[in-house]
Amino acid sequence: MNCPECGTGMVESPVAAASVLRCPDGHGVYLDRASLGALVEAESDWHRFAGQHTAPMPRITPDTAPAPPPAKAPARAWVETLF
Ligand SMILES: [Zn+2]
Repeated sequence: MNCPECGTGMVESPVAAASVLRCPDGHGVYLDRASLGALVEAESDWHRFAGQHTAPMPRITPDTAPAPPPAKAPARAWVETLF
């Protein structure tokens, strides 16, 4: 597979229990659905043993509601609200 950004061949590299294709020029990564699932599971396992200040990623199912839009930061000045 080639990088859609620069056309360079992507390099396969193992990441935890998954296999990820990386652009050698740093434009991005590609991973198939099974690899994404493996990474999410590894992330959840990490949080399970990391302590009280982390939380595992929620499991996404077809009936999961989309996340609410991020709250807009309050304007620092009235002029800022005009643009
Ligand atoms: Zn690239």
